[in-house]
Amino acid sequence: MRRDNTVLKEDGFIGEDEINIKKVAIRNIIKKNNEKIVDERTIPNKNNNNNIKIVAKNITRTFIVKNRKEKGIKEFVAIKDINLEINAGEFITLVGPSGCGKSTFLDVLSGLSHPTSGELYIDGKLVTGPALDRGIVLQGYALFPWRNVRRNIEYGLELKKIPKKQRREISKKFIELVGLKGFEDSYIHELSGGMKQRVAIARALAYDPEVLLMDEPFAAVDAQTREVLQEELLLIWAKTKKTIIFITHSIEEAIFLADRVAVMASNPGSIKEIIDVNLARPRKLGDIRTSPDFNLLSHRIWELLNNDEAKHEIKEVNQNRNIAEEISPTVNL
Ligand code: ADP
Ligand code: MG
Repeated sequence: MRRDNTVLKEDGFIGEDEINIKKVAIRNIIKKNNEKIVDERTIPNKNNNNNIKIVAKNITRTFIVKNRKEKGIKEFVAIKDINLEINAGEFITLVGPSGCGKSTFLDVLSGLSHPTSGELYIDGKLVTGPALDRGIVLQGYALFPWRNVRRNIEYGLELKKIPKKQRREISKKFIELVGLKGFEDSYIHELSGGMKQRVAIARALAYDPEVLLMDEPFAAVDAQTREVLQEELLLIWAKTKKTIIFITHSIEEAIFLADRVAVMASNPGSIKEIIDVNLARPRKLGDIRTSPDFNLLSHRIWELLNNDEAKHEIKEVNQNRNIAEEISPTVNL
C-alpha cells in the first residue's frame, strides 16, 4: 500500500476507496482549474438578485444499497428535493439529526458527488464537478502528516502551480490569520486538535476559494477550544468575506455563527425550515448566551429537531420490532 493511504487510514478518518475517489476528484480539480465551469447554462428564474451565489434546485441524491431482507439491492433516498439559495458572503449553518443527509448535501455542493436529480448553480453556472472556487474543511482535518504546517497550507497553491516565492507569501499571511505563527515547521502529530483544525482552515483559505464548505469542523476538539475557534472563524469570515456553509450538530454553534440556520429533517433528508438569525454582529458567545433572542431561536430549533428525532426513533423501534418478529415471532419488545 502506498504511503499516503497507509497514514490516512491509520488516522481512521478516510478509507481507501474514499481516497481513490478524492484522488480522481483532485485530478479533476487540476484539470478544471481555470476552466472550472463546463456548462454555460444560466439559472432559470434568477429573480434579478445579483447577490445570489449558490442555488440548489430540487437536489435529490439516492444511493444503491444492499437490501438484507430480500437479499438484493434497493435505492435509498438520502436527500430529497432540497431547494436553497445562498447569498454571496452569507454564513449559513445546516443543523439536523445524524444521518439526515447533511454531509451528502455538502458533497453535492462541493461537486464531489453528483445529484441524482436536480441542479446546482454557482454564480449562475451549472456545477458539474469540483473546483477550486470551493474549499472544504472536514471534521477529521484530512491533513498530510508527512508535510509540515507551511507545506500543508501551500498544498492547494502547488496544485495551482503558484511559484514558490508567492506561495511563501500567501502561506505566511494565512498562518498569521489563524494564529499559527511560530509553528510553520511543525508536523501535524506535534499539534493539538485545535491547531490541526486551524491548519485545515488556513489550507482551505489559502487558495482563495469564494465558498467555504465546512462539515462539523469543530466536532473533534474540546469545548473550550471549540468556542475560541468559533469566534476566530467569525473574525476570519468578516475579514475574507467568504460565503460559508457550515454543518453542525450543535444548536448553539448553528445560531452563534449564522445569518440563517437551515434545519434539516430525516427520512428522506430535506430542509424543514430556514431560520433568520437577526442577532447583532460582532458576536461574543458570552453575550449571546444570555440574550433572550438567542434563547427563543434556540428553543425553536430544538423543537423542530426534537419532533424529527422523536419520529425517527419511533420509526426505528417499529423497524426493529418487525425485524425481531421475523426472527422470532414470540419475541417480546
Ligand atoms: P449526516 O451527515 O446528516 O449524518 P449523511 O449525509 O452522511 O448524514 O448520510 C445520510 C444517509 O445517507 C445515511 O443514512 C447514510 O447511511 C446514507 N449514505 C451516505 N453516504 C452513502 C453511500 N455512499 N452509500 C450508501 N448510503 C450512504
Ligand atoms: Mg455528516
